[in-house]
Amino acid sequence: FMAFAVPFGSVANAEQLQRGLHVAISDKVRIPPASIDPAIKNYHWLDLVRGLYDAYDRGAETALLLDFNGNVAEGPGFNVFCVDDGKLSTPAVGALPGITRRTVFDLCAEAGLAVAAADVSVAALRQSDEVFITS
Ligand SMILES: *Cc1c(COP(=O)(O)O)cnc(C)c1O
Repeated sequence: FMAFAVPFGSVANAEQLQRGLHVAISDKVRIPPASIDPAIKNYHWLDLVRGLYDAYDRGAETALLLDFNGNVAEGPGFNVFCVDDGKLSTPAVGALPGITRRTVFDLCAEAGLAVAAADVSVAALRQSDEVFITS
């Protein structure tokens, strides 16, 4: 068991929080759960770091990696949610079921909003009404 307590931090800086993040869909595949279980918080991040460097090369500010089926997985240190017609979805596979992600599920339950962990295709992500990340 490993635990750490740090002041609140953010993947996005203050400016990015205001205007949004430029995100590149990476061609680097998130390491499969059969190799490293993404449900365990870990710092085996070579796939995420390679995706991030590719994103920088493409003029983006961060990356989203796909799972081995070509669906959206997660980015370096964050989960992603899509909002469509008031319903939220987030990748079920290849992503850390993190505490902040869990909090979105809890808040949706309180607010009466539908939220599901499911396959999220790149096409679905691009067509979403809104996309946000959590970390
Ligand atoms: C820490 C982390 C997250 C976010 O976890 P939360 O506990 O929901 O904030 C998402 N993906 C990866 C790979 C992480 O390391």
